[in-house]
Amino acid sequence: MKPIHRAAVIGAGVMGSGIAAHLANAGIHVVLLDMVPPNLDETKKTDRAARNAWAQGGLEKAVKARPAAFFHPSFARLVEVGNVEDDLERVKDCDLVIEAIIEKLEPKQSLFARLEKLVKPSAIVASNTSGLRIAEMMAGRSEAFRKNFLVMHFFNPVRYMKLLELVAGPDTDPAVFERVVRFGEDVLGKGIVVGKDTPNFVGNRIGVHAMLATLQGMVEMGLEPEDVDAITGPAMGHPKSATFRTADLVGVDTFVHVADNCYASLTEDEDREVFKVPAFARGMLEKKILGDKTRGGFYKKG
Ligand code: NAD
Repeated sequence: MKPIHRAAVIGAGVMGSGIAAHLANAGIHVVLLDMVPPNLDETKKTDRAARNAWAQGGLEKAVKARPAAFFHPSFARLVEVGNVEDDLERVKDCDLVIEAIIEKLEPKQSLFARLEKLVKPSAIVASNTSGLRIAEMMAGRSEAFRKNFLVMHFFNPVRYMKLLELVAGPDTDPAVFERVVRFGEDVLGKGIVVGKDTPNFVGNRIGVHAMLATLQGMVEMGLEPEDVDAITGPAMGHPKSATFRTADLVGVDTFVHVADNCYASLTEDEDREVFKVPAFARGMLEKKILGDKTRGGFYKKG
């Protein structure tokens, strides 16, 4: 089977930077791209370091993750950072491109339209979406591109979560899918679960459902996040993944977008009401209280 030597990860947030770091730890060359920070002042507009600051910052956060996350002796040489305005052409050399940008359909669709013009014919393109439909992400793309496209849904934190959910679209070539199964198991050391292209696939259909039911229950029963976590954490055998600790790790914005997308894709007969986001969680998003990636979320950072 054709090996994967070189990859690109687009989006250097919580997930993209973790995915890039995991790939490099497996010995894969990876280029990690994010946006150019908006509103750079005139003196910084041509400064490469300033233009790459978001990708660089994402990578640095992943490197500092505890427990100490990196071991590959060539790690620093294997990962390069850049931005999607100056460096998207670098996907031309890549065997695999993983999209890990914001969980909204339109930005993902425009990125795939740009990638279609650049990637080599044999390149695999994957989305780390938490639950957007493949057919919608692929609207307007060629058959050749759709054959090489699938969902590679990593779990957070990427290095420590064994699960990798793989989902084929209606046009994904079975040989491409099998190549990614082998790569995920043999090179990345993941346990593969094959999902279907249904809203939120498997992991988040269950996970987000459970989290929202818990949020709603907390409000109805007048509990605090700490009360809930005392039960859903170590006491239930989840030493690090109590409900609200997990929400802070995931990011309140991502969590709300994933729930909203799922709600919009389901019908009334499909129990969609449980995917309705409570007003207080939406208020956190408006106030940019997003969890660990900001100053705090359900818990203060630190
Ligand atoms: P995040 O907000 O931490 O990071 C998103 C990054 O993408 C940001 O750095 C942003 O600047 C960048 N970005 C946005 N639009 C871009 C564009 N057009 N081009 C380049 N960069 C762009 O989000 P995240 O939590 O890393 O989520 C990324 C994806 O992974 C989403 O699809 C999400 O649903 C999925 N996911 C998230 C988790 C989780 O636990 N957070 C788990 C599995 C999958």
